[in-house]
Amino acid sequence: MKIALVGIGKIAVDEHVPAISDSPDWELAATVSREGAVDGVEAFTDLGAMLEARPDIRVVSLCLPPVPRFAYAMQAIAAGRHIMLEKPPGATLAECHALERAARAAGLTLYTTWHSRAAEMVGAAKAWLEDKTLTSLTVTWKEDVRRWHPGQSWLWEPGGLGVFDPGINALSIVTEILAEDLHVTQAVLEVPENCQTPIAARVGFCHPGGARAEAVFDWRQQGDQIWEIVAVTESGSLRLADGGARLEIDGTVKGAAAALAGEYPRLYKRMADLVRQGQCDVDLRPMTLVADIFTLGRRERVAPFVESATDAA
Ligand code: NAP
Repeated sequence: MKIALVGIGKIAVDEHVPAISDSPDWELAATVSREGAVDGVEAFTDLGAMLEARPDIRVVSLCLPPVPRFAYAMQAIAAGRHIMLEKPPGATLAECHALERAARAAGLTLYTTWHSRAAEMVGAAKAWLEDKTLTSLTVTWKEDVRRWHPGQSWLWEPGGLGVFDPGINALSIVTEILAEDLHVTQAVLEVPENCQTPIAARVGFCHPGGARAEAVFDWRQQGDQIWEIVAVTESGSLRLADGGARLEIDGTVKGAAAALAGEYPRLYKRMADLVRQGQCDVDLRPMTLVADIFTLGRRERVAPFVESATDAA
């Protein structure tokens, strides 16, 4: 199937283009980006122009930041195209509901991807937890924003989510592996004086079974980067590390892969299946948790965020 990629930036180049190239299901037939392009692929700067010129391309994958994504997605749905969305699927829950209604009404596939759910050991973690009684859950998601998101100023603007841009990945895993849904009870958001979105946060959750559940997110991490979820149960404990790529049960490694390995190939395989079966896959639970964190969270102002030594000077 022919597919168009929209928003040729960091994640499109790092993950989407290689995953599509290696896939037996897909042919990258066009790109839409104001600046970016992919060698050897027809490039458009305007989505409407691509939709009109290439009626043979039935599927569009959107890799833009969340705020501009809704208008692009609606335009593509109105033109009868199936849609795959990078995470988070939009800037607000209401616009994601609107997209789902529009896609379903038009008989089109809408897939709100959560790439971390496709990490190597997430399925095994979910299976192990299935018959256990949870007593505590601790999420630790600490990375260096300068290393992973250089120059991405949209992350600090309204709708950019700040530390919840990666943090929502942790919540996408939590909502996948736990049998019961958590809800947010309290949050503290550390917001740099010059930014609209948090650089760090601490969150408490209610678990229906009474387990203690909490999460800490921090974008100021130096040295080792930590993307881990620890679940303690009445019959052993689980540690899911490296963003879901490594699983330990009671301290014994059950499986490990490189972080991110295989995630995007699995997303594109799933999209191919959804299009063939005429189905949608829309799960907004990770985004609901983040929206509630922003609703309930107490703001603390912290030191301004400075991208580099040059900026500081
Ligand atoms: P990015 O490189 O900053 O942006 C992607 C591209 O979107 C840009 O190159 C730009 O292309 C286009 N764009 C940016 N702002 C736009 C606007 N206002 N209107 C229209 N187009 C705009 O971002 P990214 O890191 O690839 O992230 C994109 C999405 O992928 C985000 O939702 C992010 O959460 C998700 N994601 C990122 C990573 C990561 O490690 N970076 C990992 C997983 C998922 P043109 O200027 O050429 O139009």
